[in-house]
Amino acid sequence: MVHADFFIVGRYAEPVDAPKGRFYFDRGSAVLDQGEAAKAARFAGARVSDLRLRATVSEDEDPGLLTARIDAVEQALLLAAPGTGPAQREEKPLAGKGNKDYRLVRRVQVFDTTMAPTGPDCSQGPQQPCPSPNPFLAVRDRVYEMIEQALQALRQVDHGPAGPVMDQYFHGRQHAPQVAAGLTAIARQLPLYRKEIPKGSPDQGGYRCHNECDPIVASNEGEGKEAIMTVGPKFLQSKDTDKLALTILHEASHAAIDLVTEDLAYDWQRLLPFLPVERAVKNADSYAALVGAIIGRPVGNTVGPDQYAATISAADQRGTTEMIGWLEQYVVHTRQEAGSLHLSMSKATGAGWWMKGTYRDQIFPALGAAFPEATRPADIEPTTVPTADHIATAAGCYDRLSKLHAAITNRKLTITPAADDQVTWQNTATGPGPGVALPASFFGKSGQTRVELLLDAMLAAGAVEPARIAGYRQFILARGTLTGQPN
Ligand SMILES: [Zn+2]
Repeated sequence: MVHADFFIVGRYAEPVDAPKGRFYFDRGSAVLDQGEAAKAARFAGARVSDLRLRATVSEDEDPGLLTARIDAVEQALLLAAPGTGPAQREEKPLAGKGNKDYRLVRRVQVFDTTMAPTGPDCSQGPQQPCPSPNPFLAVRDRVYEMIEQALQALRQVDHGPAGPVMDQYFHGRQHAPQVAAGLTAIARQLPLYRKEIPKGSPDQGGYRCHNECDPIVASNEGEGKEAIMTVGPKFLQSKDTDKLALTILHEASHAAIDLVTEDLAYDWQRLLPFLPVERAVKNADSYAALVGAIIGRPVGNTVGPDQYAATISAADQRGTTEMIGWLEQYVVHTRQEAGSLHLSMSKATGAGWWMKGTYRDQIFPALGAAFPEATRPADIEPTTVPTADHIATAAGCYDRLSKLHAAITNRKLTITPAADDQVTWQNTATGPGPGVALPASFFGKSGQTRVELLLDAMLAAGAVEPARIAGYRQFILARGTLTGQPN
């Protein structure tokens, strides 16, 4: 049994621009709540017999729910369009397997069969021929221009726009030659994506286009002439050439021989300007941010800097922003690892064998050490596969880390002096709020101590089950610190 405090509960909160016609359910439930049932009004003019109802469950649910969920939605539709006959039913017991976003797949999706089918058929995989004219090639040309413009600016770093940008992202103009070498390496990588890789071909070294079955902007696999650049629907549908070019620059930097960047801090993270220079020159988004700023297309978070009480000195404000930045990075990294661990476990179950590597031999044991009685790492022999309970526990952990991530990323925090000697993170009904109170003693502590005090305060603010606070603390500190720590 999965421990109840790793259950993922609560109905999916649909964004306002979500595709219409999806009805969501809580864990283990086939009851439409009032808000979901009201969505049936949209189909008031339709004949229910023209509608196809496709039900899915999350991998931790009983597939027996499928029938009951379709019944519930059909009933709501018949109330909106009485006397129009039963709907067509489609039960997909396996469709939710491998999807860690359990709330998202606990749903019934309504298709109007009199209308053109919505969305592609994903059974043949996501690759489609690239459109003509080819947007990847057009954007790649723009990347060359941008790099050329940035190199030009870096050659005159003492006079033009490059100086302040070097100060911001690379701790000073003296590092301009090293940054220029990195950009040159990226420019050399671009022509190595030389041709479109035919569907089903094992060829390496090229680019390909994916449809909605792989909802990405772009991604890179491999390095040098073996590298493959994949552009997805978000790339193919966007007209924002400069933004797309910065994305391609980021991805190509991962593949560029003599550079091979990592993701040590993304452009939306507070940590980006604080990365020490030897890490900044190895970080993909440090290059994208520099080029974006030089061409007048700055990137970064959309909510602006955190807000500090005026009584906190400028130096303490800067130091605190850096430590919140490290906390954010610990959470971002650990969450990403938990998500990838879930994927690795799902693949292992499909293959009947868990391949040795980081996920099996490092990340899962770290999760096991943090939550020994819930994950029972001893149940997994080296070559056997994780159980459904192991997989659901990893998904539950990812869910809590996502909550922590949402509490800190792209959110403007308000930092005030504490009335007592405690670091306190505001605790709201839905988890950590945007307020943080810091005592005067906080500012004199070492960097890592400040990050841990912030982490403890955040964990105590309602994002995780109280009995699990120590476990999440251990897991986040074990994995999050691997990409670096404050000095
Ligand atoms: Zn990246």
